[in-house]
Amino acid sequence: MPTALITGITGQDGSYLSELLLEKGYTVHGLVRRSSNTARVRLDSLFADKSTYEERLFLHYAELDDATTIRRILIRCQADEVYHLAGQSHVGASFDIPETTCQFTAMGTLKLLEILRDLEKRPRLVHISSSEVFGRPDHSLQNERTPMRPVTPYGIAKAFATQMVSLYRESFDLFACNAICYNHESPRRGESFVTRKITRAAAAIASGSTEKLKLGSLDSTRDWGYAPEYVEGMWRMLQQPTADDYILATGTSHSIEEFLNAAFECVDLNWRDHVVQDARYMRPSEVSQLVGDAHKARSILGWTPQTQLNELAHLMVNADLLRISSL
Ligand code: GDP
Repeated sequence: MPTALITGITGQDGSYLSELLLEKGYTVHGLVRRSSNTARVRLDSLFADKSTYEERLFLHYAELDDATTIRRILIRCQADEVYHLAGQSHVGASFDIPETTCQFTAMGTLKLLEILRDLEKRPRLVHISSSEVFGRPDHSLQNERTPMRPVTPYGIAKAFATQMVSLYRESFDLFACNAICYNHESPRRGESFVTRKITRAAAAIASGSTEKLKLGSLDSTRDWGYAPEYVEGMWRMLQQPTADDYILATGTSHSIEEFLNAAFECVDLNWRDHVVQDARYMRPSEVSQLVGDAHKARSILGWTPQTQLNELAHLMVNADLLRISSL
């Protein structure tokens, strides 16, 4: 049975991916940051399973910029596949901590590529890239050939990492793919991302909270999909005979207002009564027109996103309601 290494295993995608790979019979190794007090709650159910944790699921401490440690872990675990998810992933925060963002998201990826290049047994790699690399494109449906014109520190770091992955594939014959993912959400989405912030607030207000929901720009639009479907796409990329880059997206974009409508409708409330705008959540520079064309993933990987915006908002609000009721 294959062995996988996941960087960023404690995040939303890392936790869904671990579940998917364990279900498929993989042994899974995950990298965890020692210095942070990273919540591991998304992996709790896997830890609780005695037949999994430290039997088929192993965690290792390593910072993304610690090449020596990552090399040692990769040699010891003899991974067949590497899923590179880790990095500072909050676009808004990347304006406050651009150096950290580049250190981990850009240089961390280059260091990983350098390690893989030198390994005797080279695992297959998928790097989880982002629609942020396109910034403000000329056309509202982007594909794998759309030029990268990032407009945020996170997008710039991701563009560097994405292009390095393609370069290492072409120059050093690494099996290395980019999964260029548009926003993908779930009940496990970090609480500072706008969808989860909204669904948590809708659930809290429906449960009696009188606190206002403070948001930045409501006009922004995003192509929002459902995270478990996206990790399936990442896995499929590594099962192909050749490495390539793929867009994972729904092909439809919605505004924050539309997401607010969908989320507050679940609890029979009007969001306009509960939302206030707060300049603190406005960004110095915003992407626009980001909608992905996932035709290539559909035809080669057989990957099609299923979950629509309303259903996504519903399942997130319901999970937040359940969480509140169990407190
Ligand atoms: P991103 O696409 O990775 O930046 O995902 P986010 O969920 O962080 O942000 C999506 C969009 O929502 C961006 O255009 C933000 O400017 C907008 N937005 C509006 N209010 C908020 C807020 O309070 N928090 C966040 N994170 N984004 C907000």
